[in-house]
Amino acid sequence: MGELAVDNHVEYILSVRKRKDSFESLVMEHLTMSGAYWGLTCIDLLGKLDVVDSEEVTEWIMQCQHESGGFAGNIGHDPHVLYTLSAVQVLALLNKLNVLDIDKVSNYVVGLQNEDGSFSGDMWGEIDTRFSYVAICCLSLLHRLDKINVEKAVNYILSCKNVDGGFGCSPGGESHAGQIFCSLAALAITGSLHLVDKDLLGWWLCERQVKSGGLNGRPEKLPDVCYSWWVLSSLTMIDRVHWINKEKLVKFILNCQDKENGGISDRPDDAVDVFHTFFGIAGLALLEYPGLKAVDPAYAMPVDVLNRIFFGK
Ligand SMILES: [Zn+2]
Repeated sequence: MGELAVDNHVEYILSVRKRKDSFESLVMEHLTMSGAYWGLTCIDLLGKLDVVDSEEVTEWIMQCQHESGGFAGNIGHDPHVLYTLSAVQVLALLNKLNVLDIDKVSNYVVGLQNEDGSFSGDMWGEIDTRFSYVAICCLSLLHRLDKINVEKAVNYILSCKNVDGGFGCSPGGESHAGQIFCSLAALAITGSLHLVDKDLLGWWLCERQVKSGGLNGRPEKLPDVCYSWWVLSSLTMIDRVHWINKEKLVKFILNCQDKENGGISDRPDDAVDVFHTFFGIAGLALLEYPGLKAVDPAYAMPVDVLNRIFFGK
């Protein structure tokens, strides 16, 4: 193991953005907005956001907005609440939220709330606690949380809570670390974390650490760097990070780096991608790895960006 290869990771993320003709970028084209969020937030956590042309990125983002107010993953695709949050997060990162018609964007998100308090992801209506989080996070960043029925939204999330303390994607759904992050973060943003049994959930979460120091998303699964984020941020939100071995987790993440060409993979010696690079760096930031910006566990964004948005600092 060794140190974090900061410059190589920045180089890697910038190179992926430029490699427009590759097969990967072709099949991943609709995910581009989320890719921009993962890549640019990662670069910001590494303290290098000034290498990015913010005008160029902002112009591209605005071309992805649909007349409904929602954003698509790329130009000419359909809007979805996931990409709408990513667009808002990237604009927040670049200090460009002023280019948005806030009411238009927030009305799109508000329109996705259902009668029972849940949220659909888009006009096709798939329901998932992930979308509850995404909608709540997005509206909070836009200072428009008061436009939805927060009480119903919180009650829906609580209805997805299981006897093991975890959360599933819908009522009765199996507990999964990704859903737990979404549910806890939505409860954190709405000031409802007191409704969670922190000790019970803390046990389920800390048992996700395996021998190698990595974390898995469910019992019996292999460890994966992206769970450094889902599990770790959840443990942080309920004040139980000290229940896992932090040094071993740092070591596991650093072992997943491609130190030569940059990027981080899901497990040691696998192929790197932007998704795992971001969640690896964000996990290290949460573990207060030296040289990285502080990251907020609920918004998955740099703390200084959130201070600018919420406190005008
Ligand atoms: Zn993963």
